[in-house]
Amino acid sequence: MTDRATPRVVYLGGLGRSGTTLLERLLGELPGVVALGEVVHLWERGVLAGEPCGCGAAFPACPFWRRVGERAFGGWTRPLAERVLALRGRIDRTRRIPRIGHPDLAEYTRSYLRLYSAAGAPVVIDSSKHASLACCLVAGGADVHVVHVVRDPRAVAHSWSRTVHRPEDGRPMTRWSPARTAVHWSAQNAALELLARRGARVTRIRYEDLLADPGPALASLTGRLGLPEPGFLDGRTAWLTASHTASGNPMRFRVGQVELRRDDSWHSALPGRDRRLVNALTWPLRARYGYGSVAA
Ligand SMILES: [Zn+2]
Repeated sequence: MTDRATPRVVYLGGLGRSGTTLLERLLGELPGVVALGEVVHLWERGVLAGEPCGCGAAFPACPFWRRVGERAFGGWTRPLAERVLALRGRIDRTRRIPRIGHPDLAEYTRSYLRLYSAAGAPVVIDSSKHASLACCLVAGGADVHVVHVVRDPRAVAHSWSRTVHRPEDGRPMTRWSPARTAVHWSAQNAALELLARRGARVTRIRYEDLLADPGPALASLTGRLGLPEPGFLDGRTAWLTASHTASGNPMRFRVGQVELRRDDSWHSALPGRDRRLVNALTWPLRARYGYGSVAA
C-alpha cells in the first residue's frame, strides 16, 4: 500500500437513467482520464459477486482491477468489501447529508481514495451517482468535482417503468412506478443542490443539452472540468473503446461506433395520468431545470 498522488475525481451525480453512463463513457475517452464505473457498487457486485467488468472479464479476473486491488489494498478480499459495505450502511446515507460527520468517515473515504490513486491516472471518473457518497468524499478531503446530470423527470419515469434485462446475469433490472421515480428524482436532485450550497464544486449538465449538440456541449463541460477537448466525436457519432467500469447500466459494455441520439419515447409511451403525477411530484425543481409542464 504505497502512497500515490491522489488523482482528481470527476464524480457523476444524478438519478439513474439520466445519462450518467453515457457521459462517463464519453469522458473516459479523454487522454489521462480513466472511467471506473459506479464504484459504490464495486464492493458488492464486483468483489463479492464477481460480476463482469465493462471489458467483459469477470471482475476478479480483470487485469486492470486485479492491479488496482493489489496496489490499493494488497488484493481484494471479502472482509475488505464487507467492511466498506458496513461503513457505507452507517455513513453514506442521503438523510445524513445535512450532517455528514461520523467517527468512521475517514476510514470510509480512505477506501475510495486508495482505490482512485491505484487506478494510476491523473483523473478518474466515478459514476456512483449518489449525492451522499459525493458528500462523504468532499468531507474526506478528496479533490472532487461533481457533475450533476439532470434529465426530464417524465423521461426518467418512463425509463424506470420499462423492463430491461441486466447483461450481467439476464435478470430484469429494478423497476419503479412513475410516482416512486418522481419522489427519488426530486430527492436526489435536491441533495445534489444542497451539496453545491455547502461549497462543493458542482457543474450541472442536462442530458437533453448534451444530446442536442454533443460536440460543443461536451467541450464546454470538459473546459469547466479542466480536461482536454474531446477529439473522438464526429457530429453525432462517438467511437468508444472498452472500459473497465466496475458497475453501471448496460451501456457500459458498448464498444465501437455509437450514435448519440435522445430517447424521447416517453412522449408517446408515458400515459397522461402518469405524466400529471410526475409533473406534480417533481415541482419546483423540474421548472428550475427548464422542464415545463407542457409536453416538452
Ligand atoms: Zn476490466
